[in-house]
Amino acid sequence: MAKYKRVLLKLSGESLMGEQQYGIDSQRLNDYAEQIKEITELGVQVGIVIGGGNIFRGLSGAAKGFDRVKGDQMGMMATVINSLALNSALDAIGCKSRVLTAIRMEPIGEFYSKQKAIDYLNDGYVTIFSAGTGNPYFTTDTGSSLRGIEIEADAMLKGTRVDGIYTADPEKDPSATKFENITFDEIYNRNLRIMDLTATTMCKENDLNIVVFDMDTKGNLKKVIEGENIGTVVHN
Ligand code: UDP
Repeated sequence: MAKYKRVLLKLSGESLMGEQQYGIDSQRLNDYAEQIKEITELGVQVGIVIGGGNIFRGLSGAAKGFDRVKGDQMGMMATVINSLALNSALDAIGCKSRVLTAIRMEPIGEFYSKQKAIDYLNDGYVTIFSAGTGNPYFTTDTGSSLRGIEIEADAMLKGTRVDGIYTADPEKDPSATKFENITFDEIYNRNLRIMDLTATTMCKENDLNIVVFDMDTKGNLKKVIEGENIGTVVHN
């Protein structure tokens, strides 16, 4: 039995690199596609936002001398590339999906509207929201908060390579301990950066819970959907 009927799944661009230094690792992409297909078979409606950090980041572009707004636009294009890759991987395994874009660019994807998104979700399509919010100075975390709120998702599932939120970075501090649950206020008070503040605050103000979990272990997405607490739940 699925705990959630409609979710917004956020995948990071960096995770798509797998063991590579850049770009898209087809094995990782296919693993993600399989996991996503598995939850659609439980009848769950799935909206997805993918980052673009495996290809381009506005801030690092600006550090190299690019205009920040153009750099961010390049970053948004990177998320479209990743979205098309996932769309294609889902197609290949018989899982129907659609790419919507926050910036007009037909025929690459259809221009986003809430109505279109809801229609596709209700028709059983995995609906991939690309190009972030369509605006510079935002991130795909903010894009996923926004889309998650708009489509009235039951939760935002933030797939990462770490299995939840810790008191400190577990990759640097071996004494760090994991939270099973944590409130948004505690996230602020402890200065834990699971997402940028804009994205976190949007979720808090609109009461969208976040589940942070390790997406790189096969089968985990299904466990989260079935209500197994393998990560950390952030709530009001
Ligand atoms: N981006 C943007 N607006 C958005 C979403 C993304 O300008 O609404 C750009 C930004 O430059 C960002 C890049 O797209 O660096 C990739 O997005 P992601 O969220 O993966 O970036 P990261 O958080 O890794 O910098």
